[in-house]
Amino acid sequence: MALTGIQILKMLPKKNCGECAIPTCLAFAMKVAAGQSEIGECPYVSDEVKEQIGEASAPPIRTIKIGSADAPFTMGGETCLYRHEKRFENQTGLGVLVTTEMADADVDGRVERFNSLRYDRVGVEMKADLIAVKDTKSDEASFVALTKKVLEGAKDAKLILISDSAAHLTAAAEACGDRKPLLYGATLDNASEMAGAAKETGCALAVKGANLDNTVEITEKLLGEGLKDLAIDTGARTIRASLEDNIVARKAAVTKKFKPLGFPTVNFPCEMTDDPLMESMIASVLIAKYAGIIILSDLQGDTLFPLFLERLNIFTDPQRPMVVEEDIYPVNGPDENSPVIITCNFSLTYFIVSGEVESSKVPTWLLIKDTEGLSVLTAWAAGKFGADMIAQFMKKSGIADKVKHRDLIIPGYLASMKGELEEELPDWTILIGPREAGHLPAFLKEWKPAN
Ligand code: SF4
Repeated sequence: MALTGIQILKMLPKKNCGECAIPTCLAFAMKVAAGQSEIGECPYVSDEVKEQIGEASAPPIRTIKIGSADAPFTMGGETCLYRHEKRFENQTGLGVLVTTEMADADVDGRVERFNSLRYDRVGVEMKADLIAVKDTKSDEASFVALTKKVLEGAKDAKLILISDSAAHLTAAAEACGDRKPLLYGATLDNASEMAGAAKETGCALAVKGANLDNTVEITEKLLGEGLKDLAIDTGARTIRASLEDNIVARKAAVTKKFKPLGFPTVNFPCEMTDDPLMESMIASVLIAKYAGIIILSDLQGDTLFPLFLERLNIFTDPQRPMVVEEDIYPVNGPDENSPVIITCNFSLTYFIVSGEVESSKVPTWLLIKDTEGLSVLTAWAAGKFGADMIAQFMKKSGIADKVKHRDLIIPGYLASMKGELEEELPDWTILIGPREAGHLPAFLKEWKPAN
């Protein structure tokens, strides 16, 4: 049962010292109760209280980390069923399967695509997270060799090691060193040996259930063995069954606080179809409904990019606007004779404007002013994109040192600001750009410096 803020407050030292970065113990207690702060951020609580509060305020879906301590892949930690209730915490991990029976060239190709299929979108790098290494030959030496090959070839990949043998998993996990893999998978029959391997290597363990009930039995057994860091695969291998199981597990954990299903899920679209497009479609459904990890049979840009985009959209915090950093962004390799345009730092605006400028092929300096994530007109109305603020930013940005001319192109929607800006920036000529980003390419192609 989750503790209330007042119950947590009673266990705090009540110094109101602010060392937790929150001014009062009451405010801190409220944040811990809401899952927005960790109890460990107060340096004065005892280990006993930490454990008591930590357990009671833990999210219903346990947070699991895979990989090295300094750059882990984090999954779970979810507290709600629908994003609009709060937010989804940790995005679905996307991974690719390699097996000990695959030809070297096939493994190399998958590792190469893992490394190269990376995209920058609104300042976020979108990439795959995991490589699942499967012991299909049931041979320890080749399993360890493949694990080492993947570790070497994909330096930032987090690994899932898949084998029916606890001994093979232990040997391969030891080869991973600090890059702690997720071990897969514990069944009812081998649960004790798998629990032993997880404890010995300090790795999280995934359950390989035959169905939902069987999964519950296995997690209960592993919890009884003292394991806490678990992930679950309910054994579903159709889109319908996977979707149903993911929803049932999330609902049971979030609304009923049912601990045996309070773990992130691992889904295998790679085992549900031979059709790459269908596999991608299944993955997209499972990203939307609660998959912690999705393993694909291969990575291809045309199917992976839409999955990245979907994931980015779903796991963006709806309470926080997406922003890009205030800066000067060079587009198409600008020089001292290139046009200078300015807009707000709302990510969508940045993405649309920079995309249009890029497609125009006109080398351009794109100035992004911090408007706290508000769009152009909203920011202007809120007093965050006024002439004085733009002038201040122009002066400190150093753009005057980058160009010989003194033309500044402002968004068409800010046309009424022209006079004010000319007063604030007497050395600059203010040009009114188009209202719609789609008209920027034609505008930029025709632009010639006025001075
Ligand atoms: S650090 Fe601890 S004692 Fe100090 S204000 Fe925060 S919760 Fe209270």
